[in-house]
Amino acid sequence: MNKMMAVIKARPQKEPFELTSVPLPSNPLEQEVTIKVESVGICGTDLSIYKWTENVAREYNPNFPFTPGHEFSGTIVKVGSSVEQLKVGDHVAVNPHMSCNSCDMCLEGNQNICRNRPILGCHANGGLVEYINVRAMNVFKLPHGFPSYLGSLAEPMSVAVHALEKVHSSENKTAVIIGAGTIGLLQYLTCKAAGYSHIFVTGLSQDKERLNLARSMGAKVINIENENPQDAIFEVIGRKEVDVVFEAAGTNESINLSIELVKPTGKVALIGIAASTTPIDTTKLLFSEKQLIGCRAYTLKTWDVTMDLIHTISSDLEKLVTHRFGMNQINEAINLIAERKCLKVIIEPHLKG
Ligand SMILES: [Zn+2]
Ligand SMILES: [Zn+2]
Repeated sequence: MNKMMAVIKARPQKEPFELTSVPLPSNPLEQEVTIKVESVGICGTDLSIYKWTENVAREYNPNFPFTPGHEFSGTIVKVGSSVEQLKVGDHVAVNPHMSCNSCDMCLEGNQNICRNRPILGCHANGGLVEYINVRAMNVFKLPHGFPSYLGSLAEPMSVAVHALEKVHSSENKTAVIIGAGTIGLLQYLTCKAAGYSHIFVTGLSQDKERLNLARSMGAKVINIENENPQDAIFEVIGRKEVDVVFEAAGTNESINLSIELVKPTGKVALIGIAASTTPIDTTKLLFSEKQLIGCRAYTLKTWDVTMDLIHTISSDLEKLVTHRFGMNQINEAINLIAERKCLKVIIEPHLKG
């Protein structure tokens, strides 16, 4: 009674997550809703939190014990007294960025780079629980009939939608996506929905299954260990460069490759978080006016676009999910990500077994 299960990270060090019993959330504040969490996506950020890497230790300073899970969705079970746009029973996804709404960036509509922004599951307790209270303005209604286990994909999907917004122009017809992980494949789906005529997804030999999946969804795939990407692009479009490149791998090589593959005056969307400082030849940018554009998370507006788009691609989203687990399998999920033996892993907190 009055208790629920939660995944916690007990201490700031590398060790397995723990499953423990915690109090149920209290009644929601007047501007909050209580969500029964039905889907939590696990990603590389959660692996870094598990390992408590230097970057994570520098960026996040939660109070321990702390609950991870920044990609989550579920059904509203309680509504605060002044919430009007949401009701009990709504199927919703959560924007975990608790932007302050008062700093200069927020006031300009750039909530994604708010100067004072705890992220649920990173700085503050997140969604790897059975129930959670969330500020209503961060809660977005999923389309009617959308599968509940896929709801948490709205968060990484919003990352891809925002990156497209940052570099899109109506003249863009050709795109390269470097990296065939979840974000890379979601980027592919957003470009496809935006009407790009030729979309290439690049990867390595170890990404064979991911590249096969991209191909099955209609992408032109390039294994850059076996083929020269410029030649492969030339074969299809008669040019060696494309209108826009999405860099979703975050390595020195991939960032420099993105500059090679974009046309003069073209834009590169930087999405992959580089593990270290990347040396680049700025002269190549200067001489041909190529632009590198940083793309961070999403704004509130992005989420409205995601919610419109997500229903139309739900059958492709299903293909990205390789594992569905209960909360007791959280460390198994983390190991699969560490060993790259999965694509999207979903934890379903109310799944018994
Ligand atoms: Zn994530
Ligand atoms: Zn702010």
